[in-house]
Amino acid sequence: MADQHNHEHDHDHEHEHEEPQPTEVIGEVPDLANATARPITVVGNPVLHRECQDVTAFDAELSALIDDMFSSMYAAEGVGLAANQVGVDLKVFVYDCPDDEGVRHIGHVVNPVLEEPPVGRRRVLDDGQEGCLSVPTAYAELPRPDYAAVTGQDKDGNPIRVEGTGFFARCLQHETDHLYGFLYIDKLSKRDRKAALKQMAEGTPRYATVPND
Ligand SMILES: [Zn+2]
Repeated sequence: MADQHNHEHDHDHEHEHEEPQPTEVIGEVPDLANATARPITVVGNPVLHRECQDVTAFDAELSALIDDMFSSMYAAEGVGLAANQVGVDLKVFVYDCPDDEGVRHIGHVVNPVLEEPPVGRRRVLDDGQEGCLSVPTAYAELPRPDYAAVTGQDKDGNPIRVEGTGFFARCLQHETDHLYGFLYIDKLSKRDRKAALKQMAEGTPRYATVPND
């Protein structure tokens, strides 16, 4: 996803004031004491270009994978990460992503399915920049619906539904697309796709990647 800009509230307070209003947070940062950041797969790796397997085992291994995915996402300074981006062929993604209303969303979704847009809701497109840890250093403009909802399960197999607006809606769509084998550059015009791949070829990622054969 596009780089996240964190605005630290570090105004100088000459007097004792209450702390700056904390940003609203939905979800919590997991305990990553035993997690390991894994290298990120990049465009061209087959695991990114086919649909991932459904998760059927809601066990300790899945839980450990989710922790490693959070760790990998933070190491790469991303706001979302799908399992195939660390080479794992399973339908699960994690996120720590702001929306356009000052809310920080943190969590994971197993076996996500994007809901059809609500009937009667006007389709409003958000025309922001999009990037992807698996297309390092490239960005492109890609219009997306500014609202998205995903249903799926949590790591224990309980049904969940996650919805979001703005940048977080973009993230939910982007990560779900990953698990069905699609990168955002697959949605670009031929010319824009080529330009993104050229940016990637000329750039150097700030995180470890898995080399393609
Ligand atoms: Zn991505």
